[in-house]
Amino acid sequence: MERVNRRKFNSYIASATLSTLPLVSIIPSAKAALPTIKGAHVVIVGGGWSGLSIAKYLMQENTELNVTLVERRKSFFSLPLSNLWLCGLLSFSNLTYRFEDAAKLGKYVYFNAEVSELDRGRQRIQTDRGWIDYDILVLAPGVEYDYSSIGVTNLTAITTLKENYPAGFVSVKEQQIIVKQLQSFEKGLFVLTAPQGIYRCAASPYERACLIAALFKKRKIKGKVILIDSRAEPAVNSEGFLSAFEELYGTTIEYMNSTTVEGVDPFKNILKTDFDEFKFEGGAIYPRTRAARMIERFGLHDPKNHQFEANIDPFNYNFYGDDKVYIAGDCRPMPFSKSASVAISEGRHIAKVIAARLEGKSVKWVTPVSVCYSMVNSLPEEAILSRSSYQFDKYNNQWRFKSGSKAYNTRSKILGRETYAWGSSHLKNLFGSKKF
Ligand SMILES: Cc1cc2nc3c(=O)[nH]c(=O)nc-3n(C[C@H](O)[C@H](O)[C@H](O)COP(=O)(O)OP(=O)(O)OC[C@H]3O[C@@H](n4cnc5c(N)ncnc54)[C@H](O)[C@@H]3O)c2cc1C
Repeated sequence: MERVNRRKFNSYIASATLSTLPLVSIIPSAKAALPTIKGAHVVIVGGGWSGLSIAKYLMQENTELNVTLVERRKSFFSLPLSNLWLCGLLSFSNLTYRFEDAAKLGKYVYFNAEVSELDRGRQRIQTDRGWIDYDILVLAPGVEYDYSSIGVTNLTAITTLKENYPAGFVSVKEQQIIVKQLQSFEKGLFVLTAPQGIYRCAASPYERACLIAALFKKRKIKGKVILIDSRAEPAVNSEGFLSAFEELYGTTIEYMNSTTVEGVDPFKNILKTDFDEFKFEGGAIYPRTRAARMIERFGLHDPKNHQFEANIDPFNYNFYGDDKVYIAGDCRPMPFSKSASVAISEGRHIAKVIAARLEGKSVKWVTPVSVCYSMVNSLPEEAILSRSSYQFDKYNNQWRFKSGSKAYNTRSKILGRETYAWGSSHLKNLFGSKKF
């Protein structure tokens, strides 16, 4: 991104009318209005599950630290459990929380601003509400979509696809569009896709297929859910999902495995695969994810990584060669599940690493843990579960599942109840209140 200083800005004014100014953000040159601090300043960018967890656990590690969480959203919406909103088991307000409450509980500062630049030499970030200096910076900006992975490259087509058939894996706005679609859906094909690569919440496209089919059944809608997946079988809990598709939903779900999406025409509602093409009436089309573009723009990505993920020490999370900058959450390059549970457990470890390093010490790596419940039935509410942790195989230079990682594929009401308990306990831990 181009930096605009006063001289450059004046020269733009001189050479162009305001309406023809180049599209650059006009950056305030003032310091951000934050409380005065003494001691180390840790700035965390991104108030998702990762940033929120790191902020909370850092203050628990060392109450003398000054932690500022910079987040562009005004309120927090929980993506985990949001599939339950799509089919009416939870509401929007059950899933929406205040950053101010999290900051008060965790004793850190929430600063509502969007970050646009990083100057690692000066240890400074630029936001739309002024610049902030850091001693330690943590970037946890999450993921974005790569529409070229499903053959959609034209900007108007991408915008139309995002506005009409969003994936629903990044923002609440997307979920609202999907809820609206489902409220007025009367008949026809509702298309879902499971992307290639390691994408956010591996179980979620399959869970979503079940819950939308359950909604169709409940409302007696003459609709069919088509789930397109390039894999031969579901990415997780394969046995549990395949039996739910067959035993609970029969022909209401058509699982198109080993099928690749090659193109989508969002103007004519046509989806093209390597086998066929068909017209759809509704959908949530999920392309491959990539690390938030901020990571690439700041030069912090690994150029060999197809998902533009961060180039970090996988055990300590600092950018290679800079122990002042850490990168966490779903833009990490390690093949861990891109899930809130990994972000939370990894966040606890990162907080320990940063607190120890500020005192000239170090800590041993501990595995993050992925706990992923999937509600596959709504009447009664029954779920399945997968639980994994990781280990690094030095001999083969690769990550593996640790022994003890397990998929619970028999759907049950007990796991259904645990799904809610998992979500509400983590939300209470971060925000101090329970809404379901
Ligand atoms: C439908 C669905 C169901 C899911 N179910 C589960 C589940 O059951 N269990 C589970 O463990 N996980 C689940 N997940 C996955 C989970 O939501 C993600 O893995 C998790 O949100 C990742 O956290 P994060 O902090 O890395 O990213 P995010 O939660 O995306 O947070 C990134 C934050 O950074 C902010 N940000 C980005 N750029 C800037 C900027 N320039 N300036 C300021 N702020 C910025 C964003 O506004 C955002 O708040 C689910 C996800 C979805 C979509």
